[in-house]
Amino acid sequence: MQTDDDLVWRCQYCSVENTVWVDLTAGDKQDFIEECRICCRPNRIIIKVDINDDENVLVESRISDE
Ligand SMILES: [Zn+2]
Repeated sequence: MQTDDDLVWRCQYCSVENTVWVDLTAGDKQDFIEECRICCRPNRIIIKVDINDDENVLVESRISDE
């Protein structure tokens, strides 16, 4: 079983790809703010682990409204 991973997400402001290390044992849904390494703007990162699909990990980035 996969317990942690480096996941790729795309900045919603400048479209650059970033990576973030995620501890998948912390929960099958995680939601946090990450700053882009290029433009330093906060993106909301949503991680979902689909246990029905061979623990496929979905990563979504959104513009943070905070
Ligand atoms: Zn950016």
